[in-house]
Amino acid sequence: MFELVRQEISRHGEKPSILPIERLEDIKQDIEDLKTRYNLNGFQKYIINDIYELDLPETEFEIRSIILVASASPWMVKVNFHWKGKRITLPIPATYTDFISAPNNTEQYLREYLSPKDYHVIAAPRLPRKLLAVRSGLGAYGRNNICYVDGFGSFLNISPFYTDIPCTEDSWCEIRQMDSCKGCKACINNCPTSSILDDRFLIDNERCLTTFNERDSKDDFPQWIDMASHNSLVGCLRCQTICPANKKHMSSKVESYDFSEEETGSLLEGLAMEQLSEELKQKVQQLGLGYWVNAFPRNLKVIFAREGI
Ligand code: SF4
Ligand code: SF4
Repeated sequence: MFELVRQEISRHGEKPSILPIERLEDIKQDIEDLKTRYNLNGFQKYIINDIYELDLPETEFEIRSIILVASASPWMVKVNFHWKGKRITLPIPATYTDFISAPNNTEQYLREYLSPKDYHVIAAPRLPRKLLAVRSGLGAYGRNNICYVDGFGSFLNISPFYTDIPCTEDSWCEIRQMDSCKGCKACINNCPTSSILDDRFLIDNERCLTTFNERDSKDDFPQWIDMASHNSLVGCLRCQTICPANKKHMSSKVESYDFSEEETGSLLEGLAMEQLSEELKQKVQQLGLGYWVNAFPRNLKVIFAREGI
């Protein structure tokens, strides 16, 4: 059955892997090993304890397997802010823009495909996506702890699903880093906050720019972050754009969005989503940034200040 599902997923330009549900116990063990092997920082503990959900949900079907689906994202989206007569262009890692839509689309077509065959699927968004992708052979880690999949580089979304499809193969793999990482330190050297460590598998995600620029604007950036570090409206692209494993995936046409002076003003004011004009709200939603709109004022102000406006 999974072979047919694999063909259906490939028909949508996406890439799957499958693990028998029994492997969830091994994933739990991996997480326990991480806790004992590394001195985890507070953010890493929060992800493990509060974001991951490793207990099986109650479902109307017997869960037999976990299917992982990787879908390609464009490598970035551009946003043009018009402010004080200037135009400031900023990238957004495109994974933000399809973070919600990619799993929804996949779930919908999988449901339509499986339902007539009396199989079921349900999204499992709180499973550890990267770890499952690597353990199931779908991808490999980069030194920057991002997951890479052949054909997509790191510009992708990974969506996990519980299903009742029997898993007759077990592609369980060792946790591995890409071959391209051997002898390469490009991401280490290009990280503006020295978050990627030469002597440790886990990055120090408490120093990663993303950790700071996704927060509400009431939290200022710490003084130690150099103003020149900021490179995206939210998130950071430095370790991905310098990566040789991504080079061939960065030529696709980039979509761009314009924010007028009035719209930029509303975003700088820190208005909540429901206070934005319908048109502006729609634009923010299309960018997949509704959840982070309260981060815009601080992030924009620091970049505008750097540009002298
Ligand atoms: S930049 Fe080099 S070391 Fe870093 S993830 Fe890419 S290949 Fe690996
Ligand atoms: S996203 Fe940016 S700050 Fe975070 S590890 Fe990569 S380069 Fe460093």
